[in-house]
Amino acid sequence: MKHVLVTGATGRTGALVLKKLRERPQDFQTRGFARDAAKAKELFGSAEGFVFGDVTKPETLAGALAGVEALVILTSSTPRMKAPPQPGEKPQFEFAAGGMPEEVDYRGQKAQIDAARAASVAHVVLVGSMGGTIEGHPLNRLGDGNVLVWKRKAEAYLIDSGLDYTIIRPGGLLDKPGGMRELLVGKDDAFLKNPPEGVPAAVPRADVAETVAQALLSPYARNKAFDVISRPEESSPAPTTDFDRLFAGTTPGL
Ligand code: NAP
Repeated sequence: MKHVLVTGATGRTGALVLKKLRERPQDFQTRGFARDAAKAKELFGSAEGFVFGDVTKPETLAGALAGVEALVILTSSTPRMKAPPQPGEKPQFEFAAGGMPEEVDYRGQKAQIDAARAASVAHVVLVGSMGGTIEGHPLNRLGDGNVLVWKRKAEAYLIDSGLDYTIIRPGGLLDKPGGMRELLVGKDDAFLKNPPEGVPAAVPRADVAETVAQALLSPYARNKAFDVISRPEESSPAPTTDFDRLFAGTTPGL
């Protein structure tokens, strides 16, 4: 049984990952890391099995990682809309104080990787985002945050850390059921630069959560980084079930 810490465990994908791992007690012993006990209670019915802290305060991480064999990083900065736009205006976005991508997606992830190394964690699974190789990607302009640039720097830091890694870079996240689609893996934003016909660069959060759970167990996911999208349900006659095979088609390095 593998002892896993999931950070961002009250986030939309992080909560799905923690729930999935908890459904497989034969494979996983879990701990969630979050900053808000009330939110954990609301989502999970109780805050049992949670440690509370903040990834921008590295001193809160060490205790959370004690005895942990694998770390799943699902923390992320989240842009929010400024005042509702006037008719004809584009919405403007900002990040909360202390929540800029440099602080959360780079320094916060770096702190988690450093704490994992100090705690002799064997494997780090990091969920990032597609788009990081595209200079001028519009997401970077949101709130002047350069979010994809900072996420990519954190991925490079993880690879250089010497820890075993799996970096999963999904396309646009959908709140749709999991297990209904064929998953496609790639690299270097090829799905955005040369999109396969009829396949939007998107994937359900539930399928990303299953990919994380499988990556914790599969030797084929070790020291790999990949983009992941899904065929639409209607063009997925054979949804992905063989994750070893999926991961065998991925490659090491950023
Ligand atoms: P999310 O719901 O925004 O969750 C982010 C989590 O990070 C939340 O649980 C949040 O805590 C936590 N967090 C933020 N700052 C923190 C801090 N300083 N200390 C501790 N925890 C902190 O994420 P998501 O939408 O599921 O996305 C998962 C990942 O996929 C993200 O990296 C995202 O950028 C990436 N992605 C998203 C899309 C998309 O279409 N949205 C596409 C591709 C990739 P609280 O719960 O307290 O707020």
